[in-house]
Amino acid sequence: MLKFPVQEIFGPTIQGEGPQAGGKTIFVRFAGCDYDCLWCDTKETWKITDQDRLTALEIVTQILELSNDTCNHVTLTGGNPLLYELGPLVKVLQALKYTVAVETQGSIYKPWINDVNNIVISPKPPSSGAKLRADGILPVNTFLKRMEGESFSWMKPDRDITIKVPIFNSIDFDWFLRLKDEIRGDNKYQDYKWYLSVGNDSPTQEGSIQKRLLNNYEWLVGKVIKSKLKDVYVLPQLHTLIWGNRKGV
Ligand code: SF4
Repeated sequence: MLKFPVQEIFGPTIQGEGPQAGGKTIFVRFAGCDYDCLWCDTKETWKITDQDRLTALEIVTQILELSNDTCNHVTLTGGNPLLYELGPLVKVLQALKYTVAVETQGSIYKPWINDVNNIVISPKPPSSGAKLRADGILPVNTFLKRMEGESFSWMKPDRDITIKVPIFNSIDFDWFLRLKDEIRGDNKYQDYKWYLSVGNDSPTQEGSIQKRLLNNYEWLVGKVIKSKLKDVYVLPQLHTLIWGNRKGV
Protein backbone atom coordinates (compact mmCIF):
# COMPACT_ATOMS: atom_id res chain seq x y z
CA MET A 1 0.00 0.00 0.00
CA LEU A 2 1.26 3.51 -0.87
CA LYS A 3 2.81 5.40 2.04
CA PHE A 4 3.39 9.14 2.19
CA PRO A 5 5.97 11.13 4.19
CA VAL A 6 3.87 13.18 6.60
CA GLN A 7 5.55 15.98 8.53
CA GLU A 8 2.59 16.70 10.78
CA ILE A 9 -1.17 16.47 11.12
CA PHE A 10 -2.67 19.06 13.43
CA GLY A 11 -5.86 20.87 14.26
CA PRO A 12 -8.58 21.77 14.37
CA THR A 13 -7.16 25.26 14.05
CA ILE A 14 -7.95 28.20 11.80
CA GLN A 15 -6.73 28.70 8.27
CA GLY A 16 -4.55 31.83 8.39
CA GLU A 17 -4.49 32.81 4.71
CA GLY A 18 -6.52 33.03 1.52
CA PRO A 19 -10.26 32.72 0.99
CA GLN A 20 -10.75 30.22 3.83
CA ALA A 21 -8.95 32.52 6.32
CA GLY A 22 -10.59 32.36 9.72
CA GLY A 23 -12.30 29.04 8.95
CA LYS A 24 -11.66 25.88 10.95
CA THR A 25 -9.48 23.25 9.33
CA ILE A 26 -7.18 20.33 10.01
CA PHE A 27 -3.77 20.54 8.31
CA VAL A 28 -1.98 17.56 6.82
CA ARG A 29 1.56 18.67 5.99
CA PHE A 30 3.42 16.43 3.55
CA ALA A 31 7.21 16.42 3.47
CA GLY A 32 9.15 17.03 0.29
CA CYS A 33 9.39 20.15 -1.84
CA ASP A 34 10.78 20.86 -5.29
CA TYR A 35 11.52 24.50 -4.32
CA ASP A 36 13.96 25.99 -1.83
CA CYS A 37 12.52 29.38 -0.92
CA LEU A 38 14.87 31.56 1.12
CA TRP A 39 12.15 32.51 3.60
CA CYS A 40 10.45 29.09 3.73
CA ASP A 41 8.77 28.63 7.12
CA THR A 42 8.64 24.83 6.78
CA LYS A 43 12.23 23.96 5.86
CA GLU A 44 11.90 20.85 8.00
CA THR A 45 9.81 19.38 5.16
CA TRP A 46 12.61 19.57 2.60
CA LYS A 47 14.38 16.33 3.55
CA ILE A 48 12.26 13.22 3.26
CA THR A 49 14.07 11.11 5.81
CA ASP A 50 12.76 11.48 9.34
CA GLN A 51 9.02 11.74 8.87
CA ASP A 52 6.38 9.11 9.56
CA ARG A 53 5.31 7.16 6.48
CA LEU A 54 1.55 6.89 6.57
CA THR A 55 -1.02 5.25 4.32
CA ALA A 56 -4.08 7.21 3.22
CA LEU A 57 -6.10 5.15 5.70
CA GLU A 58 -3.77 6.05 8.58
CA ILE A 59 -4.00 9.74 7.63
CA VAL A 60 -7.82 9.55 7.57
CA THR A 61 -7.85 7.81 10.95
CA GLN A 62 -5.80 10.63 12.51
CA ILE A 63 -8.04 13.26 10.93
CA LEU A 64 -11.16 11.55 12.30
CA GLU A 65 -9.63 11.42 15.79
CA LEU A 66 -8.53 15.07 15.70
CA SER A 67 -11.75 16.44 14.25
CA ASN A 68 -13.99 14.37 16.54
CA ASP A 69 -17.02 15.94 14.89
CA THR A 70 -15.78 19.52 15.53
CA CYS A 71 -14.40 20.25 12.05
CA ASN A 72 -15.33 19.24 8.50
CA HIS A 73 -12.50 20.85 6.54
CA VAL A 74 -9.05 19.44 5.72
CA THR A 75 -6.12 21.30 4.14
CA LEU A 76 -3.44 19.29 2.34
CA THR A 77 -0.23 21.30 2.39
CA GLY A 78 3.54 20.90 2.37
CA GLY A 79 6.19 21.01 1.20
CA ASN A 80 4.43 20.37 -2.05
CA PRO A 81 1.55 17.86 -1.76
CA LEU A 82 1.40 17.66 -5.57
CA LEU A 83 4.51 15.48 -5.43
CA TYR A 84 2.21 12.62 -4.42
CA GLU A 85 -0.79 10.69 -5.68
CA LEU A 86 -3.35 11.90 -3.17
CA GLY A 87 -6.50 11.34 -5.26
CA PRO A 88 -7.74 8.35 -3.20
CA LEU A 89 -7.20 10.29 0.04
CA VAL A 90 -9.24 13.23 -1.31
CA LYS A 91 -12.07 10.92 -2.37
CA VAL A 92 -12.25 9.13 1.00
CA LEU A 93 -12.28 12.45 2.88
CA GLN A 94 -15.05 13.79 0.68
CA ALA A 95 -17.04 10.56 1.16
CA LEU A 96 -16.75 11.25 4.89
CA LYS A 97 -18.21 14.75 4.23
CA TYR A 98 -15.00 16.74 4.62
CA THR A 99 -14.36 19.67 2.32
CA VAL A 100 -10.80 19.37 1.03
CA ALA A 101 -8.36 22.18 0.24
CA VAL A 102 -4.91 21.89 -1.28
CA GLU A 103 -2.07 24.41 -1.18
CA THR A 104 0.71 24.20 -3.77
CA GLN A 105 3.15 26.53 -5.49
CA GLY A 106 1.88 25.37 -8.89
CA SER A 107 5.08 23.78 -10.18
CA ILE A 108 3.90 20.15 -10.52
CA TYR A 109 0.54 19.20 -11.94
CA LYS A 110 -1.41 16.08 -11.01
CA PRO A 111 -4.94 15.38 -12.33
CA TRP A 112 -6.32 14.62 -8.85
CA ILE A 113 -6.25 18.34 -8.08
CA ASN A 114 -9.40 18.57 -10.20
CA ASP A 115 -11.35 16.79 -7.44
CA VAL A 116 -10.31 19.20 -4.68
CA ASN A 117 -12.85 21.74 -3.38
CA ASN A 118 -10.57 24.66 -2.54
CA ILE A 119 -7.55 24.88 -4.85
CA VAL A 120 -4.97 27.39 -3.66
CA ILE A 121 -2.04 27.97 -6.01
CA SER A 122 0.69 30.03 -4.43
CA PRO A 123 3.38 31.03 -6.95
CA LYS A 124 6.60 32.20 -5.35
CA PRO A 125 7.80 35.74 -6.14
CA PRO A 126 11.43 36.81 -6.81
CA SER A 127 12.28 37.30 -3.11
CA SER A 128 11.93 33.53 -2.64
CA GLY A 129 15.11 32.99 -4.67
CA ALA A 130 13.40 29.73 -5.66
CA LYS A 131 14.96 27.58 -8.34
CA LEU A 132 12.56 28.76 -11.00
CA ARG A 133 12.75 32.44 -10.15
CA ALA A 134 14.12 33.29 -13.60
CA ASP A 135 10.47 33.31 -14.60
CA GLY A 136 8.33 31.99 -11.79
CA ILE A 137 5.30 32.93 -13.91
CA LEU A 138 5.92 30.21 -16.47
CA PRO A 139 5.39 27.17 -14.23
CA VAL A 140 2.11 28.42 -12.82
CA ASN A 141 0.79 29.34 -16.24
CA THR A 142 1.72 25.88 -17.50
CA PHE A 143 -0.04 24.39 -14.47
CA LEU A 144 -3.22 26.36 -15.17
CA LYS A 145 -3.16 25.38 -18.84
CA ARG A 146 -2.86 21.72 -17.83
CA MET A 147 -5.95 22.14 -15.66
CA GLU A 148 -7.79 23.74 -18.55
CA GLY A 149 -6.69 20.90 -20.81
CA GLU A 150 -8.15 18.23 -18.51
CA SER A 151 -11.86 17.54 -18.45
CA PHE A 152 -12.05 20.09 -15.69
CA SER A 153 -15.49 21.28 -14.76
CA TRP A 154 -14.57 24.87 -13.99
CA MET A 155 -17.96 25.94 -12.85
CA LYS A 156 -18.52 23.22 -10.24
CA PRO A 157 -20.49 25.01 -7.51
CA ASP A 158 -18.49 23.49 -4.66
CA ARG A 159 -15.07 24.47 -5.98
CA ASP A 160 -13.02 27.65 -5.96
CA ILE A 161 -9.61 28.35 -7.39
CA THR A 162 -7.38 30.92 -5.75
CA ILE A 163 -4.06 32.39 -6.70
CA LYS A 164 -2.34 33.62 -3.57
CA VAL A 165 1.06 35.29 -3.55
CA PRO A 166 3.17 36.23 -0.53
CA ILE A 167 4.65 39.70 -0.97
CA PHE A 168 7.87 40.73 0.74
CA ASN A 169 8.91 43.86 -1.15
CA SER A 170 8.17 46.15 -4.11
CA ILE A 171 9.89 43.82 -6.59
CA ASP A 172 7.51 41.03 -5.54
CA PHE A 173 4.56 43.39 -5.90
CA ASP A 174 5.54 44.40 -9.46
CA TRP A 175 6.07 40.73 -10.29
CA PHE A 176 2.55 40.01 -9.07
CA LEU A 177 1.14 42.68 -11.40
CA ARG A 178 2.89 40.98 -14.32
CA LEU A 179 1.76 37.52 -13.21
CA LYS A 180 -1.85 38.66 -13.01
CA ASP A 181 -1.72 40.30 -16.45
CA GLU A 182 -0.16 37.25 -18.07
CA ILE A 183 -2.60 34.79 -16.49
CA ARG A 184 -5.53 36.99 -17.46
CA GLY A 185 -4.24 37.24 -21.00
CA ASP A 186 -3.33 33.58 -21.48
CA ASN A 187 -6.01 31.53 -19.78
CA LYS A 188 -9.57 30.76 -20.76
CA TYR A 189 -10.82 30.59 -17.21
CA GLN A 190 -10.98 34.05 -15.69
CA ASP A 191 -12.74 33.48 -12.41
CA TYR A 192 -9.75 33.05 -10.13
CA LYS A 193 -9.80 34.59 -6.69
CA TRP A 194 -6.71 36.74 -6.13
CA TYR A 195 -5.12 37.05 -2.70
CA LEU A 196 -1.97 38.75 -1.46
CA SER A 197 -0.53 37.94 1.90
CA VAL A 198 2.18 39.66 3.85
CA GLY A 199 5.40 37.70 3.82
CA ASN A 200 7.03 36.69 7.09
CA ASP A 201 10.74 37.22 6.44
CA SER A 202 11.90 35.93 9.87
CA PRO A 203 10.09 32.60 10.21
CA THR A 204 12.37 31.36 12.98
CA GLN A 205 12.35 34.50 15.15
CA GLU A 206 11.10 33.75 18.64
CA GLY A 207 8.76 35.96 20.64
CA SER A 208 6.56 38.73 19.37
CA ILE A 209 6.64 39.36 15.63
CA GLN A 210 3.17 40.85 15.37
CA LYS A 211 4.18 44.54 15.29
CA ARG A 212 6.61 43.99 12.44
CA LEU A 213 4.05 41.97 10.45
CA LEU A 214 1.32 44.56 10.98
CA ASN A 215 3.68 47.31 9.74
CA ASN A 216 4.36 45.19 6.64
CA TYR A 217 0.63 44.63 6.21
CA GLU A 218 -0.01 48.37 6.34
CA TRP A 219 2.67 48.87 3.67
CA LEU A 220 1.10 46.22 1.40
CA VAL A 221 -2.43 47.58 1.86
CA GLY A 222 -1.07 51.01 0.87
CA LYS A 223 0.48 49.57 -2.32
CA VAL A 224 -2.79 47.89 -3.32
CA ILE A 225 -4.89 50.98 -2.58
CA LYS A 226 -2.67 53.12 -4.82
CA SER A 227 -2.58 50.52 -7.61
CA LYS A 228 -5.16 49.80 -10.31
CA LEU A 229 -5.91 46.38 -8.80
CA LYS A 230 -9.66 46.11 -8.29
CA ASP A 231 -10.29 42.48 -7.43
CA VAL A 232 -7.50 41.58 -5.03
CA TYR A 233 -7.84 40.74 -1.35
CA VAL A 234 -4.97 41.62 0.98
CA LEU A 235 -4.59 39.71 4.23
CA PRO A 236 -2.07 39.29 7.00
CA GLN A 237 -1.24 35.71 7.95
CA LEU A 238 -3.80 35.44 10.75
CA HIS A 239 -2.04 32.55 12.49
CA THR A 240 1.18 34.58 12.85
CA LEU A 241 -0.77 37.43 14.46
CA ILE A 242 -2.07 35.01 17.09
CA TRP A 243 0.81 32.58 17.58
CA GLY A 244 3.89 34.20 16.02
CA ASN A 245 6.22 31.53 14.61
CA ARG A 246 4.91 28.67 16.79
CA LYS A 247 4.51 25.40 14.87
CA GLY A 248 1.62 22.96 14.94
CA VAL A 249 -1.08 25.45 15.93
S1 SF4 B 1 7.34 26.17 -1.98
FE1 SF4 B 1 6.60 26.39 0.13
S2 SF4 B 1 7.39 24.59 1.26
FE2 SF4 B 1 8.52 24.73 -0.68
S3 SF4 B 1 10.38 25.87 -0.18
FE3 SF4 B 1 8.87 27.37 -0.93
S4 SF4 B 1 7.82 28.11 0.93
FE4 SF4 B 1 8.91 26.20 1.48
